[in-house]
Amino acid sequence: MASPTADLHRLLGDRVVTDPDVATGFASDAYPQAQPLSGTEFTVVRARSREDVVTTLRYAAEHRVPVVPQGGRTATTGAAGALPGGIVLSTAAMTTVEILSQERIAVVGPGVINADLRAAAAERGLAYPPDPASSAMCSIGGNVATNAGGLCCVKYGVTADYVRGLEVVLPGGAVVRTGRRTAKGVAGYDLTGLFVGSEGTLGVVTEAVLRLLPLGDPALTVLAVFPTLAATLAGVDALRGARHTPSLLELLDGPSVDAVQAYGDYGFPLGSGGVLLVQSDRAGHTLEDVEEYAVAMRAAGASEVAVAEDRAEADLLLAGRRALNPALHAKGHRFIEDVCVPVTRLGELVRRVHVIADARGLDATCGGHAGDGNLHPCFFYDPDDPASRAAAEAAFDDVVRAAWELGGTLTGEHGVGVQKRPWLAEELGVAEVARQRAVKTLFDPLGIMNPGRGIA
Ligand SMILES: Cc1cc2nc3c(=O)[nH]c(=O)nc-3n(C[C@H](O)[C@H](O)[C@H](O)COP(=O)(O)OP(=O)(O)OC[C@H]3O[C@@H](n4cnc5c(N)ncnc54)[C@H](O)[C@@H]3O)c2cc1C
Repeated sequence: MASPTADLHRLLGDRVVTDPDVATGFASDAYPQAQPLSGTEFTVVRARSREDVVTTLRYAAEHRVPVVPQGGRTATTGAAGALPGGIVLSTAAMTTVEILSQERIAVVGPGVINADLRAAAAERGLAYPPDPASSAMCSIGGNVATNAGGLCCVKYGVTADYVRGLEVVLPGGAVVRTGRRTAKGVAGYDLTGLFVGSEGTLGVVTEAVLRLLPLGDPALTVLAVFPTLAATLAGVDALRGARHTPSLLELLDGPSVDAVQAYGDYGFPLGSGGVLLVQSDRAGHTLEDVEEYAVAMRAAGASEVAVAEDRAEADLLLAGRRALNPALHAKGHRFIEDVCVPVTRLGELVRRVHVIADARGLDATCGGHAGDGNLHPCFFYDPDDPASRAAAEAAFDDVVRAAWELGGTLTGEHGVGVQKRPWLAEELGVAEVARQRAVKTLFDPLGIMNPGRGIA
């Protein structure tokens, strides 16, 4: 059989990458892989239109070639990595944005970068709230396919809460439209909800209709430093009683704070029990709210509380949180968890992460979206020491089981990808996996859409 690259080049011309070195750049996402594929082992199509996607998926079905949809390649789970002999179908160049201010919707191509959409909406006095920490790099197609969350979910929810409708190309090339543009509508099953979070296993999103909100006020921030982990968690509990939900509530435990401060001077004291960052964007009331949050933090036992009085100060206070991911990257090789537990069990989860790390002899950090019960514990290992890597893998398993015991799930927002497949059937149960695979087969009877990822 001729290689997909030569065939697809005849069909799609310069949409197909013919330089293997360039193709290698599309081999993997942010999931650490021992040996990413070389660009000679798969084909890259850089679609610019729906028609390019249709042509590619028609070819893929005729020749039974697996297809990996790809956006910004920021998935932490291996969901967007190339497959040997397969096609990587990048929608990163499909970047149209239309904002219908009166309707409060945006109609966008899948390649639009999250931060660019947020900026375009803000220019019109509107907000697209979902804001993953990877906002400057990840695409709307990827956000839809992972049902991405982010920092503001505590008040505004996740991507699914903003997707009204989708255009999706199915394997074989059929184009389907799901959902609607209108504010309401209940005709038929909610297929939009099915595609959101499906990790590229059902089809390729070529357009999304997204709900927008009126823009809040620029957020103000409180940063509270606590002497102990227990006091940090008491701070989270105190905020649950707040009458006005913060627009952001992020937790860094002591080791996370130390990692950030080792990465750059963000003004954090070393050896603290933890830090909470809390924001309000409530129109006309931001200062009033953050002052109220500051009182609650002090009452919970904070040793230092800083309140931003303007946007610039708020950004400075948040800078340390934004530095968390690069700081953890600089600290060393790690497995990143994404467990989510009922918000009232958050404290137990954090404590158990550290008990597990101690028992396995590992360094660990635990931080994330405290307001949602969704944390990203990290276990650090020495890549040259198989015993250390095995201990980190065992700790990862321990934390998933701890989350289940606490009534939670193995993934709050990053998805399953390759990384969490070993646990998926245990979480869902055999009968549910069978039902979900039957749904998958309805859309992808040949099993060529992102096989080996998520439920696929
Ligand atoms: C530093 C960092 C911080 C992060 N912070 C957060 C966070 O706060 N919250 C959060 O939720 N996630 C976070 N993530 C994870 C990641 O950014 C999200 O999962 C994001 O939604 C992926 O978008 P992407 O465009 O990079 O997609 P990719 O990584 O390219 O792909 C992700 C998935 O989407 C599928 N896909 C991509 N485009 C399409 C399409 N057009 N049609 C169908 N399927 C498609 C892929 O096949 C794959 O399954 C973070 C990642 C990093 C590296």
